[in-house]
Amino acid sequence: MSTIQQHYQSVTQRLQQACADCGRDPASVRLLAVSKTKPADMVEAVYNLGQRAFGENYVQDGMDKITALSHLDDIEWHFIGPLQSNKSRIVAEHFHWLETLDREKIARRLHEQRPHTMPPLNVLLQVNISGEEQKSGVLPADVEALAQSIASLDRLQLRGLMCIPEHTDDNEVLAEQFRAMKALSQQLQQQHPQADVLSMGMSGDLELAIACGSTEVRIGTDIFGARDYPASKS
Ligand SMILES: *Cc1c(COP(=O)(O)O)cnc(C)c1O
Repeated sequence: MSTIQQHYQSVTQRLQQACADCGRDPASVRLLAVSKTKPADMVEAVYNLGQRAFGENYVQDGMDKITALSHLDDIEWHFIGPLQSNKSRIVAEHFHWLETLDREKIARRLHEQRPHTMPPLNVLLQVNISGEEQKSGVLPADVEALAQSIASLDRLQLRGLMCIPEHTDDNEVLAEQFRAMKALSQQLQQQHPQADVLSMGMSGDLELAIACGSTEVRIGTDIFGARDYPASKS
């Protein structure tokens, strides 16, 4: 068995175990394989193991792989990095999901740029749940207002929330932030029932995120190995 196959299987087993430990159906948690900085042939190897959803952080790095793998017609590309407005067209024209929407201005651009030949772009609002000043994301108090303005843009489909919690080894602090996200997600769904995705949990904390209600974990390192070169800012 190849190393990547071993890594992939051990991640899917961890995911299943984490669901079993808190009495959740494994089908209720999507695995997003975060392939940023990794080459297209590695993505294809993981696709061949059955994985369909891949996450990319850099517009050009992602676009190169989308082009190289265009023969895989059921692969699903999620953009999960910070998005500058001058790069929004590439995301609008080539990705299936954007998980880091946090501004109305970008939402309007994406709405105008999304081709009519494609289904609406699925979007998650990135929430700055730790309230750290330098961090991207909409503050919890502003989620509903942004959700409202997206609801009027028919080329976008609001699907839920995403967060990158504070970088800490303190599981209690992390759990508090994950639980706050879960509460926010439930609140959002009262007005926007289709916004039921909650993207949280990475290689180091997927068990805790699942126990707190995550419906999508984003795993890079534990599938693809350590990132081996600093991706150039695209
Ligand atoms: C890189 C990245 C991940 C994956 O992190 P790992 O620790 O490598 O699993 C998940 N989410 C986002 C937003 C990322 O940028």
